Amino acid sequence: MIRKRLNFNTVTNESKTFARKFLLEYNILVVFTLNDSWADCKKSTVGLETDVPLNEFYSLMFHELSHILAYRSKKFYKYHHDKASNEYMWKHGLRIERWIDKRAKSMMNLYMPDMKFVPAYRNEESLNSYYEWLKEHYPITNEADKGAKK
Ligand SMILES: [Zn+2]
Repeated sequence: MIRKRLNFNTVTNESKTFARKFLLEYNILVVFTLNDSWADCKKSTVGLETDVPLNEFYSLMFHELSHILAYRSKKFYKYHHDKASNEYMWKHGLRIERWIDKRAKSMMNLYMPDMKFVPAYRNEESLNSYYEWLKEHYPITNEADKGAKK
């Protein structure tokens, strides 16, 4: 039997417990997933993927926390309350995600100054998957109407 070498950079039960307690301070519940991180703002629940390096795991935690804080303070109201039109999503979605992520970075730098933040929606792969997600959930027939800035 080959045992996986212990690596302090991986997500452990201790890091999951830490995330659970940390988010509980904000009355947020967490479920752990293998390949998808998300925030259900209405239910104050987040999903965090664990099959990532530890600093990415915490970056995702702060990103999803940032969404829920925005929802609670009614920032980007349309975006977080399911009232955004397809056109709105194409025009503002990425900018909003980056604002959310920027605050996530500030929070992580404050709470975990030694941990390197992994930004979301900054490399080609994550941008492509974002646009795929938009196409699927907020389809627009006329390409010219998308107005998406890359
Ligand atoms: Zn996000």
